Amino acid sequence: MQKKSGKFIPFIRQEALRKLISQCPICNAKNSTFNIKVLDEKEDAQLTYIRCRQCGGRLMALIMANGPIVSSIGLITDLNEDDIIRFRDSGPVTEDDLLKLHENLKGRI
Ligand SMILES: [Zn+2]
Repeated sequence: MQKKSGKFIPFIRQEALRKLISQCPICNAKNSTFNIKVLDEKEDAQLTYIRCRQCGGRLMALIMANGPIVSSIGLITDLNEDDIIRFRDSGPVTEDDLLKLHENLKGRI
């Protein structure tokens, strides 16, 4: 069983992270160490920020548990921790947002 009392068992989470970052996807270092910070955690999902100490490359990873199955999605990012939290809580991009962007860029290019 991957879950216990509706929570991740820490070992399973660590194992999923270890597999996800066995090699840095940016500098390909196999022996690099990573700074890992949990940005958000729910009963069956965890949003994690990972930084390679060798190259400074950054990943955000979503680790999810669905019964006995644990899966992870990793994404290379140039966002910092604060940006990830800020954009996570923002809504989708709307047509008005695009029009404002267009107006701001108009005449600059
Ligand atoms: Zn790296």
